[in-house]
Amino acid sequence: MKTKNAASVMSAPAHDHTHDHPHGHSHVHGRGDAPVKALSSSAYPHVRMRRLRGMDALRDMVREHHVRVEDLVYPLFVEEDVSERLPIASMPGVFRETEKSLEIAVKNAAAAGLKSIMLFGVSHHKDHTGSDSCDPNGLLARMIDRAKQAAPDMVVIADACFCEYTDHGHCGPLNDKGDVDNDRTVENIAMQSVIAAEAGADIIAPSGMMDGQVAAIRHALDVTGFNHIPIMAYAAKFASVFYGPFRDAAGCALGKSTHKVRTDRKTYQMDPANAREALREAALDEAEGADMLMIKPGMPYLDVLANLRRETRLPLAVYQVSGEYAMMKFAAAAGALNYEQAMMESLLAFKRAGADLILTYGAQDAAGWIKNNT
Ligand SMILES: [Zn+2]
Repeated sequence: MKTKNAASVMSAPAHDHTHDHPHGHSHVHGRGDAPVKALSSSAYPHVRMRRLRGMDALRDMVREHHVRVEDLVYPLFVEEDVSERLPIASMPGVFRETEKSLEIAVKNAAAAGLKSIMLFGVSHHKDHTGSDSCDPNGLLARMIDRAKQAAPDMVVIADACFCEYTDHGHCGPLNDKGDVDNDRTVENIAMQSVIAAEAGADIIAPSGMMDGQVAAIRHALDVTGFNHIPIMAYAAKFASVFYGPFRDAAGCALGKSTHKVRTDRKTYQMDPANAREALREAALDEAEGADMLMIKPGMPYLDVLANLRRETRLPLAVYQVSGEYAMMKFAAAAGALNYEQAMMESLLAFKRAGADLILTYGAQDAAGWIKNNT
């Protein structure tokens, strides 16, 4: 369509640049006979990305990723032998629940629309191997049972590991060099997983980074009548400083015991420098029978998550760890940023990078915000 205006613009010497544009005539919106200088100058963009950002509704329409309440998994800490829930100083807003208050926390999570929780015990019955977690009457089994009683439709994920139950704080029994004994730990974790399944756990999530743990758990569950229970493997768990506040919360900091033990987990958790190795770890877990894979921590490892998304068809989870949560909380308390906006932006970043599920201490908060905004 060539109008008089278009013709006049096209013929004006100042607008000779229209030949740079394959469709030079299409961006002429002349009013009257006035020359429309800016519209046809090549100094201005033909493609304007801002066109789709001009209105709330328009932005809503073209948004690529969304955070749903169903995407969130809420980690909860449960301490035995205490009468009151205790706030965790390094994680503002997070508590060590009592076995009794756990029921309320789970019911609140369900009322907020959350579909899943993950439980961490704070044990008062620690020993060298973490045997309390393999006791059908121990804290691990009791807290799973309590949570299921409180909200039978809630998906209860059992973190399968020993660090919360060992007196030295490591993720399994130690060998004579003071390092975690891989194969003994794998035998124990298979047993612990069956105990968790018997107590009612809906998903087993081994977090110890022991070689062969997923295959051993799969086998143990299959031969004990739990072949329907899925495994969410902590596939790539990095030896990260961002777990600091969790160690406070769960009482499993290293270097506090009388044993002669390593004060880090670098012989089993991954080197933060290694991205290719994370894909090998994930591929092994998938081959061993994992139903879902997890990356931990979250924000500093978005590249690992995005890489893995391209390599596997399994559902992916990411764990936004205690240090990430604490950074946002303390920055907000200092007036440096808005907690709600920071939390929601970080959750969206996980979705964008390829996560299906997000474990976050902000799950209860986020569920409320998502509800109010829809
Ligand atoms: Zn552990």
